[in-house]
Amino acid sequence: MKIYPWLKNIYKIIINQYLKKKLHHAIIIRSNIKIGSKKLIYLLCKKILCKNSYTLYSCNNCKNCQLISSKNYPDLHIIIPESNKKNIGVDIILKCIKKIQNTSKFGKKTIVWIKKINLLTESSINSLLRILEDPPLNTIFFLDYYNSFELKKTLKSRCIIYNIYPPSEKNGIFWLKKKLKNNNKNFYTAIRLSENSPILAKKILESNLWNERKIFFKKIKKSIKKKNFLRLIKFFKINKSKKIYWICSLILDTIKYCYNKNSKLTNLDQKKLIKIFKKKNTLKNLYLMINIWNKCFFYIKNIQNINKNFIFLEPLIKMEKFFNFL
Ligand SMILES: [Zn+2]
Repeated sequence: MKIYPWLKNIYKIIINQYLKKKLHHAIIIRSNIKIGSKKLIYLLCKKILCKNSYTLYSCNNCKNCQLISSKNYPDLHIIIPESNKKNIGVDIILKCIKKIQNTSKFGKKTIVWIKKINLLTESSINSLLRILEDPPLNTIFFLDYYNSFELKKTLKSRCIIYNIYPPSEKNGIFWLKKKLKNNNKNFYTAIRLSENSPILAKKILESNLWNERKIFFKKIKKSIKKKNFLRLIKFFKINKSKKIYWICSLILDTIKYCYNKNSKLTNLDQKKLIKIFKKKNTLKNLYLMINIWNKCFFYIKNIQNINKNFIFLEPLIKMEKFFNFL
């Protein structure tokens, strides 16, 4: 398993700290978007536990490396929710704390890796705080943290935080080109839709979503021709939030286009549709349109027991008004 090129630097920084015996015992890896934090933590764990101490990467050959690869290394504790539960309950944390109190079986470090710390319950966090305050000897904690929720200050204060970022667009595309065959327009569109995460861009380009997006925009074009947006309702049945995201990004592109910021467009493969949107709408309407779709997105995400198909009526009727269909 190779490290992603945009994470090489942070990997080196953390391993150098470890080799100098200066590594903090509780490390939060923080990112805004999926850019490979799990792989980074896995490779860090492997290196720290590898028997060949003075190399930058793990050797992949020693007994420890092999046991980690086969998920059998006894001193690497990976914490995830139990199969039938959504959260990481306090019982899981307490069980793990009990296990790590005994010294490591292999004479190396003991590592606790908490995947998705947003799934920790209040009482799990409290138990974790106590062990972070007074950790067993030779134990390292890795916490994988997506920035989308607020992390308790008490937890932050007991850890060192390493932020990881996506590569520049240019470097992201360079990586994508090595992994996939496609045209430049699609590479740029996918990476811009993925907030510069090459991993997500690759995933979109390889999945059915890419095709679904193209069809969705075709249907919008047809709806404009037929002067009827309500016919789009049935297309919102699946991947609802994705479709709201796509339509918002198209409206935002139209706004950029109005300001002559053509080089900043996300949907480079949809220039025709962007031009149609511009021709049919005032800037004010475009801003209003974004607001309406944002409101719709909020309802979908936050209100339960709501008729989710009915929710799309309002923005679509408003769109018809803006486009002067009514
Ligand atoms: Zn090794």
